[in-house]
Amino acid sequence: MLTFDHDILVSGGGVAGLAAAAVFGAAGFSVLCVDPTAPITERDAEGSDLRTTAFLQPSQSLLEQAGIWARLKDHAAPLQVMRIVDAGGVVAEPRLVKNFNAADISEKPFGWNLPNWLLRRELLARLTELPNVEFRPGVGTTSLFTRASEARVGLSDGSRPRVRLVIAADGRASPMREAAGINVKTTRYGQKALAFAVLHPIPHENVSTEIHRAGGPFTLVPLPDWQGLPSSAVVWMETGPEALRLAELPCDAFEEALNYRSCLLFGPLTLVSRRTVWPIISQQAERMSSERLALMAEAAHVVPPIGAQGLNMSLMDLKLLVDLAVSNPTELGSRGMLDTYHRKRHGEVTARVTGIDLLNRASMAASQPMRDLRAKGLDAIYSLGPVRKTMMQLGLGARG
Ligand SMILES: Cc1cc2nc3c(=O)[nH]c(=O)nc-3n(C[C@H](O)[C@H](O)[C@H](O)COP(=O)(O)OP(=O)(O)OC[C@H]3O[C@@H](n4cnc5c(N)ncnc54)[C@H](O)[C@@H]3O)c2cc1C
Repeated sequence: MLTFDHDILVSGGGVAGLAAAAVFGAAGFSVLCVDPTAPITERDAEGSDLRTTAFLQPSQSLLEQAGIWARLKDHAAPLQVMRIVDAGGVVAEPRLVKNFNAADISEKPFGWNLPNWLLRRELLARLTELPNVEFRPGVGTTSLFTRASEARVGLSDGSRPRVRLVIAADGRASPMREAAGINVKTTRYGQKALAFAVLHPIPHENVSTEIHRAGGPFTLVPLPDWQGLPSSAVVWMETGPEALRLAELPCDAFEEALNYRSCLLFGPLTLVSRRTVWPIISQQAERMSSERLALMAEAAHVVPPIGAQGLNMSLMDLKLLVDLAVSNPTELGSRGMLDTYHRKRHGEVTARVTGIDLLNRASMAASQPMRDLRAKGLDAIYSLGPVRKTMMQLGLGARG
């Protein structure tokens, strides 16, 4: 009979990998999670991740079940309304404003927004409460050997643990995906996102606001008050050269550009963090699994940050994996389990990657006729009540 060092090895300690370690740990499996880079858990430290994640309802339930939500809830800003603003006319001013209210489909908000650096801090704290989970920062996966009954993973500390399942949560260039020879299809948009935090005089009232003009969406997502003032996280998508130019502007010139692009919907914005720049691509792995290996999160799919889908799709990968594991623990990592995972997730992921690609292309539109068409499309979707509700449920992941 085979003996294993751990049930599961999670390659990658980003938000997705740490969440996977905590969720499987809380379900009673022994887990080793490794990452060559130690997580940065302070907002103002060099290299901290200033993006935020809006956890939609299904993700919040999973985090609650794994004992993580109790640590997060006091830091989260609820998202009650998703406001879509078209400012694609000749001048940058709102010409169409549509509110999608969570109350139309649910008693709960759409989701809750949290900074990524804080997520890492609280996920790490949760791991220390789980004696069956080991997190080894400073150590990366270097090789993968599998056979039907086990996987052996080479680590940069020279060890070679034997496990039943390897979870690749090691990002868009996933070394474990590469080692398994799984190909990806990548779409490049020549676009980048700036992510940073602002203060504003007009309270956000738990409204997430997406403003469309050209180059990609400009999104303000509610954060809890910062230093006693209303605060939001901003994701500003632009063509690559324009994003880099904006990132380098002196603070006052940047705030001027910011106020023009935000149409002053919350009054003048004040920058209160570093500006970070993220390349935007769509990418999907051709399979979600191979022998003894499951891909999740950006190792499996990358989407532009629209509609808070990226990490929420990742947590739906995780939910299916843990449900399959718990319903039949002796089959953990078996071909049957991993084929089911691939079959149930791949189509759903393809649909979301395709849908978000279309939304991003519509938002990037620079020509006036295309921008006018986009505004007409938004108006049409909004005015049909059942279509509007279905769109909201689909966005939430409450409908497949
Ligand atoms: C601007 C922006 C805003 C976003 N906003 C949202 C949002 O509101 N809601 C949402 O759901 N999603 C959002 N997303 C998407 C979300 O941020 C990502 O899906 C998520 O952060 C990616 O997490 P990950 O853990 O898969 O990848 P990563 O964060 O890239 O983590 C991968 C980890 O793997 C590690 N690694 C690399 N090589 C190895 C190795 N050999 N061995 C072990 N580990 C290794 C890396 O060091 C890294 O820590 C946004 C994305 C962007 C760009």
